[in-house]
Amino acid sequence: MKWVNKFCRETWIEVNLNALEKNLRAIRRHIPKKTKIMAVVKANAYGHGSVGVARHALKAGASALAVAILEEAIVLRKAGITAPILVLGFTPLKCVKEAAVWNVQLSAFQVEWVKEAQKILEKAGSSKLLGIHINVDTGMGRLGVRLQDELLAIVEALTTSRSLIWKGIFTHFSTADEPDTALTRLQHNLFIRLLRFLEQEGFQLPTVHMSNTAAAIAFPEFSADMVRIGIGIYGLYPSEHIKQLDLVTLIPVLSLKARLSYVKVMLTEPLTISYGATYIANLGEVIATVPIGYADGYSRALSNRGFVLHRGRRVPIAGRVTMDQLMVSLGERKGKQGDEVVIYGRQNKAEITVDEVAEMLDTINYEVVATLSHRIPRLFIKDGRVVEVSHYMGPVKKIRKISKKKRRKNKRKKNRNAGMTKRIEVEE
Ligand SMILES: *Cc1c(COP(=O)(O)O)cnc(C)c1O
Repeated sequence: MKWVNKFCRETWIEVNLNALEKNLRAIRRHIPKKTKIMAVVKANAYGHGSVGVARHALKAGASALAVAILEEAIVLRKAGITAPILVLGFTPLKCVKEAAVWNVQLSAFQVEWVKEAQKILEKAGSSKLLGIHINVDTGMGRLGVRLQDELLAIVEALTTSRSLIWKGIFTHFSTADEPDTALTRLQHNLFIRLLRFLEQEGFQLPTVHMSNTAAAIAFPEFSADMVRIGIGIYGLYPSEHIKQLDLVTLIPVLSLKARLSYVKVMLTEPLTISYGATYIANLGEVIATVPIGYADGYSRALSNRGFVLHRGRRVPIAGRVTMDQLMVSLGERKGKQGDEVVIYGRQNKAEITVDEVAEMLDTINYEVVATLSHRIPRLFIKDGRVVEVSHYMGPVKKIRKISKKKRRKNKRKKNRNAGMTKRIEVEE
């Protein structure tokens, strides 16, 4: 990876866009043809890098995007993404105008909120329109309208408003990833009953959506107009159960890698490693330092427990994970400064999966990737080439500015062998 030479700390994430495309295609094939895909890119696209993922997911067949908070949507808009974006979380009224300005759709579930939002926009001027998806709580118990009467009041407010546009109605499953399907079916029935009620009241339904990745895989018949796919895009299964169903093949998109920053043979006392001196090396043991720590989202709970891959084999973490660095024991084996290690992903025939790390940490794969911090640069790779880089600190070495003449020449060349030239973009 030549790009890594531009970073002053050689730790990076590789996002495999070919895998991302395959995952989207695999899910696409599994759900009804008419169902659209909303790519869920909240939390920096589950740690993968939201702008790069959003851009490529849209290219690979997603029709819309979802985020958790308005600011995440604005980041995408500022990067030039024009597809519909829905904010899934609660947005306070003070931010409603901003949502309209950026043409970002919001979720609503309270009639007072809807009426206030309408007032705010009308005061701001007639050009400000805001798309709204109604969130219906059928058993998630997080956000959403629960009562039929209140749902009706919201719909009436939306359909008579000049500033709000009723764009969608959705619910969210709480156990779609589990073998017991009873609650998911109950939630589905409740939702369908409410939708029928609205139709009987004479309303024409906008986009209906309910399924996350687990439901899209386990209940493709619930897909409706759109499915909201998060974890599946990233090639991870929502649960072991969903994986065992073996209905859709997903390929992990993310790899986490680094280059050893120091290698030493322990020849002198003291032989202690890291804070707390919880690891004592043997005389002659080879200890290597990896430039990643808990501030990067590599959990401190992996101290003396986790592994990385070095020269195609697992080497154990020695001592505590520190904020920015950790040590591994190479045992009696050789290694040198600059050697590539894989923290999550494959190296030769060896692999460390996000799933196994999640299990070690007694959590879920979602958390392991979503907590990878902004400090790590993301390289987006297609057909073995880096096509986009996102690095919030930016590279120290400036990317060579391409002259107009050269750009034209490149464009001609690009047209000649369409899709073969690489496009490098650096996000600020
Ligand atoms: C996060 C989220 C999703 C995506 O869930 P996955 O399990 O990652 O597919 C869908 N809908 C809502 C409301 C969410 O919060």
